Amino acid sequence: MNYKDLAELIFPGVKDIEYYEKKYPRRNLPEGAVVTRFAPSPTGVMHIGGLYQALAAIEVAKKTGGIFFLRIEDTDQKREIENGVSDIVKSLQDFDMKPDEGQISETEEIGNYGPYKQSKRKEIYQAYAKYLLKQGKAYPCFATAEELDIMRQKQEAAKVRTGYYGVWATYRNLSIEEAAERINKGDSYIIRFKSPGREDRKIKHKDLIKGNVDFPENDQDIVIIKADGLPTYHFAHAVDDHLMGTTHVIRSDEWLSSVPLHLQLFLELGFKPPKYAHISPIMKNDNGNKRKLSKRKDPEAAVSYYIELGIPSLAVKEYLLNIANSNFENWRKQNKDADISEFDFQLNKMSVSGALFDMVKLLDISKIVISKMTAEEVYNKAVKWAEVYDKKLLELLQTNKQYTLKVLSIERGNQKPRKDIAKWSDLKYNIEYMYDDEFEKIKTNYELQKINDKNKIKQILEIYLQKYFNINDDKQTWFNKIKELSGEFGYAKEVKEFKENPEKYEAHVGDVSTVIRIALTGRTNTPDMYEIMQVLGKDIVIKRLKEFI
Ligand code: GLU
Repeated sequence: MNYKDLAELIFPGVKDIEYYEKKYPRRNLPEGAVVTRFAPSPTGVMHIGGLYQALAAIEVAKKTGGIFFLRIEDTDQKREIENGVSDIVKSLQDFDMKPDEGQISETEEIGNYGPYKQSKRKEIYQAYAKYLLKQGKAYPCFATAEELDIMRQKQEAAKVRTGYYGVWATYRNLSIEEAAERINKGDSYIIRFKSPGREDRKIKHKDLIKGNVDFPENDQDIVIIKADGLPTYHFAHAVDDHLMGTTHVIRSDEWLSSVPLHLQLFLELGFKPPKYAHISPIMKNDNGNKRKLSKRKDPEAAVSYYIELGIPSLAVKEYLLNIANSNFENWRKQNKDADISEFDFQLNKMSVSGALFDMVKLLDISKIVISKMTAEEVYNKAVKWAEVYDKKLLELLQTNKQYTLKVLSIERGNQKPRKDIAKWSDLKYNIEYMYDDEFEKIKTNYELQKINDKNKIKQILEIYLQKYFNINDDKQTWFNKIKELSGEFGYAKEVKEFKENPEKYEAHVGDVSTVIRIALTGRTNTPDMYEIMQVLGKDIVIKRLKEFI
């Protein structure tokens, strides 16, 4: 009996790897084109760190005219959650990060290198395991859980590295005959890789993010095929990324220490290894301490959080690029209207120690992103969000679409657009006073400001209505009239004048505007009041001011 016979005994009828090598030919891509993938396990809700990795992978593929694909790593079926795959697919869709190939729904996929769900690739992994078995580079291991446990205890007592290696790898030296006998007897077993490595030798690895790293060689005989016939992550990674033609493996740095093993697997399987880029986790400042964003502690760790708040996906991506490449911010300043795909994203500019997440900064970016949208875009995106998350807002938006578009057009499309909206969940607050029914509910929520004498306020508004208000005035005339009105009350007509002689004046033109603004909107802060009046129209302006008086 030889290795080949043993391989046949273990995997009878499993195809030769030539079949798969032919079925999945090397990709015919232009020089320099990079193939990347996002390879999550459907074991929990999508994490912002996952989105960050996927974004980096997309950016690199896109800028080289390459391919980005989505592979579902569902070999740990015990840990799989319900709708895990749909959640991943949907998250990528929500962020406009659809893969070129791979899983596109719970059950469907596109592309010629599938199946893209690992649980559907069982016979492929077995073919490659058989290939290793035939060469004596893998072997069946019959160790029971108890045996492994005792081994570990012995290793701990002897203060040596734990694991299945060297002299501890009991079944590595089992004869082919003995192995065959146990298999025929029905003993259960798994398949291990026979590592040719030595711990006292070093390997050099050049990571695209972490730079040069030295590791001891791998000498662990890791499991490649588990008792359920499915592969371990390590083995599936080597087989899949080889067959799928991945050139750049961009993944979390929790895998960095596995690089020696992975390089060894590629070598022993006769594959060309990919380039690796290990991304550091996104960090959070927790009372002065930097720690990883945690699924358990931080709601903002879940991608769904941003969707639920109604932060536009573009803002989230723009923010992630900001923390990924520190030169993004400067690029954005110089290329205000450019699409993010024009940015020259670089893996080697990513932080080695972990980028710091800052919600305030994200919301600031979001305000800018929304400020650049047309009223129509704001309308459509807000409606889409409100359909799921806020029926009241939906009603407000849809009852009079043309009017709403006018409301949303206030201070938009000009040099200094309004930047008061950071997320769709803010929108109701930001526009409700423009709707009379809503205004009725909120109009008493104001606090008087500098000019707070009720009689004065009454007089100001009365005189404004009698003498100055004319809906047909242009903006300059309108403003000049408010200055005139301020003068009538002995207030400074110019803020500058007030600042120069603060003792001379009780208030200035801005304070008079605030009186009108509060009467008109119930707010002390709004976008441009002239535009607000134009949209509200003459009758509503008069009605609101009179009611206030
Ligand atoms: N399924 C692995 C994970 O979610 C993928 C790592 C990789 O990208 O290779 O961590």
